[in-house]
Amino acid sequence: MSHSDAELVETNATPASEIAGQGSGAEWLSRYSSSLMGVFGTPQRVLVRGAGCLVWDADGKEYLDLLGGIAVNAMGHAHPFVTSVIASQLATLGHVSNFFTSPTQIALAEKLLALVKAPAGSKVFFANSGTEANEAAFKLARRNSDGKRSKIIALEGAFHGRTMGALALTAKEAYRTPFEPLPGGVVHIPFGDIEALRAAVDDTTAAVFLEPIQGEAGVRPLSTEYLQAAREATTAAGALLILDEVQTGIGRTGKWLASEDAGIVPDAITLAKGLGGGFPVGALITFGEATSSLLSAGQHGTTFGGNPVATAAALATLHAIESQGVLENARTVGAFLRKGLADVDGVTEVRGVGLLIGFDLDADVAPAVVQAGLDAGFIVNSPGPRTIRLAPPLILSTEQAGRFLAALPALLQTAKESQ
Ligand SMILES: *Cc1c(COP(=O)(O)O)cnc(C)c1O
Repeated sequence: MSHSDAELVETNATPASEIAGQGSGAEWLSRYSSSLMGVFGTPQRVLVRGAGCLVWDADGKEYLDLLGGIAVNAMGHAHPFVTSVIASQLATLGHVSNFFTSPTQIALAEKLLALVKAPAGSKVFFANSGTEANEAAFKLARRNSDGKRSKIIALEGAFHGRTMGALALTAKEAYRTPFEPLPGGVVHIPFGDIEALRAAVDDTTAAVFLEPIQGEAGVRPLSTEYLQAAREATTAAGALLILDEVQTGIGRTGKWLASEDAGIVPDAITLAKGLGGGFPVGALITFGEATSSLLSAGQHGTTFGGNPVATAAALATLHAIESQGVLENARTVGAFLRKGLADVDGVTEVRGVGLLIGFDLDADVAPAVVQAGLDAGFIVNSPGPRTIRLAPPLILSTEQAGRFLAALPALLQTAKESQ
């Protein structure tokens, strides 16, 4: 029996709104715990809808989203232009495999090379996530070898992802230990210590991996001097300098790249989080012909990476960021937030650039602040016991930022009373 196209459309139709209406938050969470793997613990809320910087949960409660899906929703939720481009690409050509290419894939690669001011011979590999972009970078690093370069250097506090190669670069013991043995040769050196870096980089070093600002470690920026010293040391030793801008790239800091101001040319960068504006897209960009040719035909691949929908989503996101003054907004609203945070009683340190912000508290109450925030209608995150991270949509308004600043003293008080 054959179905007409119209029948297929009807029988397969299950509108998201119909599913969302099927239960309260508590009901959904009970179904979650019996069907989803427990790696994330219990989700904080069941979210059903978003618009701009706001999201709503299954019980109809509204939240100001100051985390943006962890630095992902650059243009906020359900951005009309981005969603319409995704929908129309999907209705035109959704997936083709990498036996073929598509105009959006090529246009996105060209656009990215221009945005990061990559020199001639630079190239792009598309993946679906940050960890996949870093896996590709890890394989690139392994190819920078004449058989003698076994060492790859990363920093204490580093987070590069959860798949085995990226996990080998990630520093946190709790993430690593259960999965050993990890791909070998990675050493972690003290964060921000230029002398330790110079001592570690030698002619057995294949690559140095750095996050210009460590996001998961609580928003810890590396200094310009450090990035420059890393460039000098790696160049002298013939090692690659690979910058993980998965969290810091694509306007997060008010610049296309957080490393822009250091005035260095890396050998490769990885991007993901903000790139697709919420659609999963990752990228490895290699700088210059010599680096780009380290991975040759057949040495890496992906089924989904760079597909027409993902690359259209990224093109639309980049276009929206460029045409709507979003980088400037990230700088201004970020500065406003940091200044306001520094004046709040109980905040001991404020770090970050643009709209990637970390602040420390005078007590180990950060998880309780996250909880109090949710109850009061704010989504924030605690990467450490006394650290709060903000990575809101880059379109956050000053008024919305001010609403959080005004609420924060009460959130801190509620958190301390709950201890
Ligand atoms: C989030 C993140 C990753 C991993 O990205 P996924 O998309 O979660 O795999 C890698 N590096 C950095 C710096 C990140 O912030």
